[in-house]
Amino acid sequence: MQIHWNDIDTILLDMDGTLLDRHFDDHFWLEHVPSRWAARNGKDLAFAREHLYALFRSQENTLNWTDLDYWSDRLNMDIPLLKQEVEHLIAVHPFVVEFLLFLKQHQKTVWLVTNAHSKTLDLKMKKTRLGPYFDGIISAHQVGLPKEDSGFWQALQRFLPYTPERTMLGEDSEINLCTAAEYAIRYLVFVGRHSSTAMPLVSQRFSTIHYFNQLIPADGSMAVTI
Ligand SMILES: [Mg+2]
Repeated sequence: MQIHWNDIDTILLDMDGTLLDRHFDDHFWLEHVPSRWAARNGKDLAFAREHLYALFRSQENTLNWTDLDYWSDRLNMDIPLLKQEVEHLIAVHPFVVEFLLFLKQHQKTVWLVTNAHSKTLDLKMKKTRLGPYFDGIISAHQVGLPKEDSGFWQALQRFLPYTPERTMLGEDSEINLCTAAEYAIRYLVFVGRHSSTAMPLVSQRFSTIHYFNQLIPADGSMAVTI
């Protein structure tokens, strides 16, 4: 894909896996929560994993998936507090700050658009200090739909008016890129290296990058090819 930055006004960026290392989230839900739940309920870890993974899967692609209050109630545990216990694992992917500075330098409108719940957002923005780089931050919980819903990108217009033809979306979720494609957002970029501890992925449908420096023109021009 050819990108001419002069043709793009608005950049929408996902948070977990895209700007931030998804190792934190994977570790939290797949290791930390099961181990705390097992200790609390007097079960072994294998049972806890099987039980919780099935529960998590049952809420995939819904807003409950990222709703910390929902999981606190459902599991009878203080999920925000458990997140704080492993907050040292929250990390920004390499070259993200350089990319955000490049966008600022060229007066682009940059929004963080995430399914994350406000309590997760608060913790992550406090920890990473990325907040000031954005013109705005929007949680799918405010929109009332997850990004996996094909109505999301239209509904987003109520919060942030944008021209799909002149907009880029960076995501580590192919499902979310597909719903954005249905709404004709023109520049769709898949972040294949979502976690520092997992194998990078390549999208069959969308242009894949590993790091955001691939979108910064090296030669002082405003064009890159990915
Ligand atoms: Mg993501």
